[in-house]
Amino acid sequence: MPVPYSFTCDCCGKTYNEMPLCFGSKYPEYYFSIPEDEREQRVELAESLCVIDEHFFHRGRITIPIDDHDEDLVFNVWTTISQQNFELRNDLWNDPERVNQPPYFGWLQTAVPTYGNTLSLKTRAFENEVGLIPTIEVIEEGHPLRHDQQNGISFKTAVEKVQMILKEWHKES
Ligand SMILES: [Zn+2]
Repeated sequence: MPVPYSFTCDCCGKTYNEMPLCFGSKYPEYYFSIPEDEREQRVELAESLCVIDEHFFHRGRITIPIDDHDEDLVFNVWTTISQQNFELRNDLWNDPERVNQPPYFGWLQTAVPTYGNTLSLKTRAFENEVGLIPTIEVIEEGHPLRHDQQNGISFKTAVEKVQMILKEWHKES
């Protein structure tokens, strides 16, 4: 029998069956600037698409490869998308050919933990097969998030990042 792997949070000793590697935000950052009593009226959220006032957002996935590990570090993030591309994504929602679309430009709309200021980084979103959210490529030159996405991180760095993220989380809850 394989030895069960478990992961323990440094801050509080909470244990996980495996190291949590997928993190994300439920809403684009802009959402949090909308007064709570106006959100119902101004925010339209459906699956991985969001419209707030005249602004269009979609959710995608940033993956950071971990050396010598069979899973990636994953951040589900929001980016802006132009109205034209937003409508295109809607039209192509169930079209298997959508994977052939050129990427959509967007500004990152999620604070990615452990990566400093990530708001408004330049990104490109690549359509995936039907049922999957797009792959987000960070194209902002010189930013550590782009660097790590391109080059991967060591397992040790991944553990350090996860510990930092959990610490923030557990502080909030
Ligand atoms: Zn903890």
